[in-house]
Amino acid sequence: MIKITLPDGSVKEFAAGITPMDVAKSISEGLARNVISASFNGTTVETVTPLTTDGSLVLFTWNDEGGKKAFWHSTSHVMAQVLEEMYPGIKLTLGPAIANGFYYDVDFEDHKITDADFKKIEDRVLEISRDKHEFKLRPVSKAEALEVYKDNVYKTELISNLEDGTITFCDHSTFTDLCRGGHIPNTGIIKAMKVMSVAGAYWRGDEKNKQLTRVYGISFPKQKDLTEYLELLEEAKRRDHRKLGKELELFAFSSKVGQGLPLWLPKGAALRDRLEQFLKRAQKKAGYEQVVTPHIGQKELYVTSGHYAKYGADSFQPINTPAEGEEFLLKPMNCPHHCEIYNVRPWSYKDLPKRYAEFGTVYRYEQSGELHGLTRVRGFTQDDAHIFCTPEQLDEEFKKVIDLVLYVFGSLGFENFTAQISLRDQENREKYIGSDENWEKAENAIINAARDKGLNTVVEYGEAAFYGPKLDFMVKDALGRQWQLGTIQVDYNLPERFDLTYKGSDDQLHRPVMIHRAPFGSMERFIAILLEHTAGNFPLWLMPEQAIILSLSEKYEIYAKKVLDLLENHEIRALIDNRNETIGKKIRDAEMQKTPFMLIVGEEEEKNGTISIRRHGQEGKGNITVTIEEFAAIVTEEINKTLKVFTV
Ligand SMILES: [Zn+2]
Ligand SMILES: [Zn+2]
Repeated sequence: MIKITLPDGSVKEFAAGITPMDVAKSISEGLARNVISASFNGTTVETVTPLTTDGSLVLFTWNDEGGKKAFWHSTSHVMAQVLEEMYPGIKLTLGPAIANGFYYDVDFEDHKITDADFKKIEDRVLEISRDKHEFKLRPVSKAEALEVYKDNVYKTELISNLEDGTITFCDHSTFTDLCRGGHIPNTGIIKAMKVMSVAGAYWRGDEKNKQLTRVYGISFPKQKDLTEYLELLEEAKRRDHRKLGKELELFAFSSKVGQGLPLWLPKGAALRDRLEQFLKRAQKKAGYEQVVTPHIGQKELYVTSGHYAKYGADSFQPINTPAEGEEFLLKPMNCPHHCEIYNVRPWSYKDLPKRYAEFGTVYRYEQSGELHGLTRVRGFTQDDAHIFCTPEQLDEEFKKVIDLVLYVFGSLGFENFTAQISLRDQENREKYIGSDENWEKAENAIINAARDKGLNTVVEYGEAAFYGPKLDFMVKDALGRQWQLGTIQVDYNLPERFDLTYKGSDDQLHRPVMIHRAPFGSMERFIAILLEHTAGNFPLWLMPEQAIILSLSEKYEIYAKKVLDLLENHEIRALIDNRNETIGKKIRDAEMQKTPFMLIVGEEEEKNGTISIRRHGQEGKGNITVTIEEFAAIVTEEINKTLKVFTV
């Protein structure tokens, strides 16, 4: 008999040789109908793989990431079968599942695949799938595998690197592929499939190798799922922050300035400033002190911090001074600078915690191919802060940081998130720096703080950094995509490396604990995510312009100016569209700019001292006519709905 541990912690006994599918059936027929893949002791297995040892089993359905992976990878085999059928003589290489779908890298030799072929491929994949072919793994000897693929240099290379006795083929229908497993039971559940695109890809990602064609595809168990996915892609395109950033005149890039170095235009800079002021106000209340540090630091600083050993060779190289032979690095992190601020004077336990905050700009080299709008850049500003506290204070400090992060998310309309807690790998404690006692304290502090604040948590063992445990907020945006925002990280390493101390109540010197935290992460990436989440309709308190005054004709310019002055008195950000354009054109342009309130002024309004309000995106709802005071009250009420007062 073997003991199988299920994710809920329950242990069941089975005869050796039982399959994951049998285990599913023993739980319920309903589950068995939906199980499409499984993982045993952390390794992906087939639903028909006999289990022969004790271990933990996770059963995957389409709703699990593991299930989707098996579904997509399996579809890549069917697509490969179709490609071979349609383009005889091509050489198949690798076909893994990816975050959304799968790809297959193919050497098409003399053939050429074009968009016009996609539909044919899709139809044939579905036709084959309907026959419910089972995916069957079969062990083969290395010699046999090499013989089968003797005309395929790519597979031959893959097989050469495998150990004899570990090689398997996967058969389905009339098709066979070199594969180590991870399939759905049969092709019958593939009900929708689309070839998304083709692109060039070097064999093994090395540009010295031959360029292959990467065929991207995706598949679903229902046609409806595919339709929804394609609609989501369209919406994501509409919300692409690079497109919106240009339309709303927030930021730009210049090839002269350099790639990956964003230029913030006046509206974007004002937006950033409002975000910074918003966080600074809350941080001040929470007891943070602002500091400012330079954009470069001596190489030695980063040798001490360990960053040089880790990133030095793969990042921007040192800047040398002409005469004195000094070496400086562009700042990749603010932490070493803040450690030196802490070291300026001695501290007693009574002085702690110290909380140093800085909107610190850092520079990290990213390969040009990796750069992407504002989400992957070479220079960015972190809303960084470092808290230096005693181990006893960790608990309280962690809770306070969580409060601040929740305040930020609440004010910006991120409502859907989970807290991912990364802890030590309990089996390999020697991998980590810091005493067992301190680790326990820190891990408990994080778990307790998260529980205390009612966060929805996921605990990941073995995901902690070698220098401390952490909590990451995983945020879902309006399109259901997940982003990592707001990291809180405990650190035992830098206090050691920078020899940070405080005098305890015992009059002895002790090491403080350091917390790194950044609710936004980086201003660039955060604004990109916020743009895509809101489609540019930021919360009213953050909008570059909250209102635009549109006069019906030049006759009302003086009145428009008067309205603007009054709005300024109420601290409402507004401007006037004075152009000699029709009101229709002015409205269309204001809609494009996503200005929340369009204030129309004409003869009636001037006579009564009022404005007619039209809301962004509410065409046909009819305007309402109000006084300036009434309008100011509407604005204040709406702002207060999202922007709460931060209290500690
Ligand atoms: Zn496979
Ligand atoms: Zn840091």
